[in-house]
Amino acid sequence: MTMPQGSYDAVIIGAGPVGLNIAKVLSDRGKRVLLLEAGRASGLSYDGWLSYVDTFRSALIKEPNSPYPPNANAPSTYAQDVYNMQKHVPILSGYQVEKGPLAFGSTYLRSLGGTSLHWLGTCPRMVPNDFRMKTAYGVGVDWPLTYDELQPYYCRAEWALGVSANKEDQEHFGMWFPEDYDYPMERIPQSYSDQLYARGAARAKVQWAGREYGMTVTSLPQARNSIPRAGYRPRGAVGAPHVGQRCEGNASCIPICPVQAKYSALRTLGELDANFYTLVTQAVATRLLIDESGRIGGVEFKRYASESSNQSQTYTAYGTLYVVAAHAVEGAKLLLASGAANSSDQVGRNLMDHPFFLTWALNPTPVGAFRGPGQTSEIPSFRDGPFRNEFAAFRIDLGNWGWDVATFPPGSNVNDAVGKNVFGKALRQSLEHQITRQLRVGYVVEQLPEAGNRVTIDREFLDPLGCYRPVIHYNVSDYTREAMVRANEVSNALFRAMGIAPHDIRTSHTPDNTPGYMTYKGRDGKEYSLGFYGSGHHMGTHRMGVSRTDSVTDANCRSWDHENLYVVGCGSMPTVGASNPTITAVAIALKAADHMLTQLG
Ligand SMILES: Cc1cc2nc3c(=O)[nH]c(=O)nc-3n(C[C@H](O)[C@H](O)[C@H](O)COP(=O)(O)OP(=O)(O)OC[C@H]3O[C@@H](n4cnc5c(N)ncnc54)[C@H](O)[C@@H]3O)c2cc1C
Ligand code: SF4
Repeated sequence: MTMPQGSYDAVIIGAGPVGLNIAKVLSDRGKRVLLLEAGRASGLSYDGWLSYVDTFRSALIKEPNSPYPPNANAPSTYAQDVYNMQKHVPILSGYQVEKGPLAFGSTYLRSLGGTSLHWLGTCPRMVPNDFRMKTAYGVGVDWPLTYDELQPYYCRAEWALGVSANKEDQEHFGMWFPEDYDYPMERIPQSYSDQLYARGAARAKVQWAGREYGMTVTSLPQARNSIPRAGYRPRGAVGAPHVGQRCEGNASCIPICPVQAKYSALRTLGELDANFYTLVTQAVATRLLIDESGRIGGVEFKRYASESSNQSQTYTAYGTLYVVAAHAVEGAKLLLASGAANSSDQVGRNLMDHPFFLTWALNPTPVGAFRGPGQTSEIPSFRDGPFRNEFAAFRIDLGNWGWDVATFPPGSNVNDAVGKNVFGKALRQSLEHQITRQLRVGYVVEQLPEAGNRVTIDREFLDPLGCYRPVIHYNVSDYTREAMVRANEVSNALFRAMGIAPHDIRTSHTPDNTPGYMTYKGRDGKEYSLGFYGSGHHMGTHRMGVSRTDSVTDANCRSWDHENLYVVGCGSMPTVGASNPTITAVAIALKAADHMLTQLG
C-alpha cells in the first residue's frame, strides 16, 4: 500500500459513491487526489467479491451487512442491533447509541465502496416542489438550488451510475428532461405482479379534503444493467468485466448482487486513472486540523494494521482542498469531533430518513413473487400534491420479493404451518398456496428537518480505535405519522381494487411485528397503531442553504466557515421529498466537484 506523499490537490475522506464520483471528476482533469477510506479493500478484486458472496450464503441471519464481516475498527450498525427497537430504547449495545424517543432503524456500511455495496439501486429524481417546500407548502425549508439548476447534474449522475429507465415514465409533477437526453439504458422490464397492481391502480381512488386522487403504476429508475442505449457500454464486475453486464434476476440485490449487475462505487474506483489518485484503506479520519486563518490545514487519520487488532498509527494528510464524503452520520461526527464547520450549530441536526411503512396481502391467484430485482415499479401518484401542507408525501414501492421483511418468508410460513401440526404433502400444499400469492407494498414516507433529530458525540461512547460512536436522537413528527395513516387508506383502496378480500389484507402494526412501533391520534380523532422500518437513507446532517446562520454549506457544498472544505453526500439535503437520495446526492456532488475545479484552477 502507498502512504500519502506530500500535498494533494484534494484529500477526499470516504470512498463511497459520493467520494468516488468526485474523485473521478477531479482526476479526469489531472488533479491529484488522495482517498482516505476507513474500511477494508476486499471488494476491489473479483475473488474478494466472491468471498463476500460466500459469507452471505453461509450467514445464519441474512441482513444488509451480512456479506461484509464485522470490522471493529470501522464499525457499522447491524439490523439486529436496532430490531424491535421501540422496546429497547435507549439502545447502547450496538454501534449506534440510540437515545430515542424512537430508535433510528437504518444501517450503513463502512467498507471500500461504502453503503453502495448493499444498496438496492433505486434512483428516482426529486420533483421540483421538493426543492421549495417552504414556498410551496409552508413547511420545512427551501433549498438554495432549484430542480432546473440541478437538472444537468442529474443527467450526469445517471450516466455515471448507469441508470436504466425510460424518461417518458418519469415526467411526474413537473420533472423534465432535455429533449436530446435519455437514460443510458432502457427500463428494467416490469414484473408480472406490477401488471396486477397496474390493473388495480387504474380503478383505485382516495378522497382527501374534497379532492379525488387516482393512482398509476410506472417503471422505476434503477442503477442496474439492462439493454444499453446508443453511446453507453454497460460496465460489469470489477476485475471481471464480462460478468454482470445484464441483470440476471438473482433477486439478492440487497445485500449483494453476485454478478455486480447493480452499480456499486467500486465500479467508479475501477475507472479512475491510476496516475492521479492514491487510495489508503483501513484509514479512519479522526480530525480536521484548522489553521489560524480558518482554513483546513490537514486531516489526521488512524491507520490500523488489521481488523482483528486495534493497533494503529496516526498520520496527517495534506491537500489544497478537503472533502468530507464519509456518509451523513460519519461526516457529521467527524465535523463535530474537529469543532469544524459548525458556526450555525446545524452540524448533526436535521437527521432524516424515509420511514418505510409496509402493508401486505394475499392475492387470490399466484403473483410470481421472489424473482428479479426487489422492485421494478412504483406508484408515484402521492409524491406531490396540495395535501403536503398537512401531511407528508410518499412514494409507493411495489415489492417483488413476497412479504419480504414484513414477515420474513418463506421461513415464517414454514414455522406457522409446522406450529399447526401441518406436515408432509399438506405442508407442501400449504406453502405453495401461501408463498406464491404474497404481495408487499412499501411506502417511502417524507420526513421534515427538525433540529432535535440529530447525531451527536459523547466521550462515554467510543469504538475500539478510540473514535466516537454516533449518538442518535430521533423521532417521527405528526406530519409523517398522518401520512402513514393516509398510506394505509391508499393501501386498502389499492388491494380492494385488485380483488383482494379484506381478511387477506395485512396492515397490523404491533411492538412485536414492526421495529418502529408507535401510536398516533389522527386528524380524524382516531387512535392508530403505526410501524415503520428504516430505509437506510441518512440525510440532512450538514445541510446546504442560503445563509451561514442556518446551514453548514452553500449550494456548492462549500463550508461557510472554512473556504477549502467541502462537505458532501445525503447530509447536504435540506429536505428530502419521497425519493431515494443517492442519485440526488451524486448530482449535488458533481456540482460541488465542478466548483472544486474552479478553485483549483
Ligand atoms: C439497505 C439499504 C438500501 C439502500 N437502497 C438505496 C436505494 O435503493 N436507492 C438510494 O438512493 N439509496 C439507497 N440506500 C442509501 C445509499 O446506500 C446511500 O445513500 C449512499 O451509499 C450514500 O453514499 P455516500 O458515498 O455518501 O456514503 P457511503 O456509501 O456510506 O460511503 C461513505 C464511505 O466513507 C467511509 N468512511 C466513513 N467514515 C470514515 C472516516 N472517518 N474516515 C474515512 N472513511 C470513512 C465509509 O467506510 C464508506 O466507504 C440504501 C441504503 C441501505 C442501508
Ligand atoms: S436481480 Fe440479481 S442480477 Fe439483478 S441486480 Fe439484483 S442481484 Fe443483481
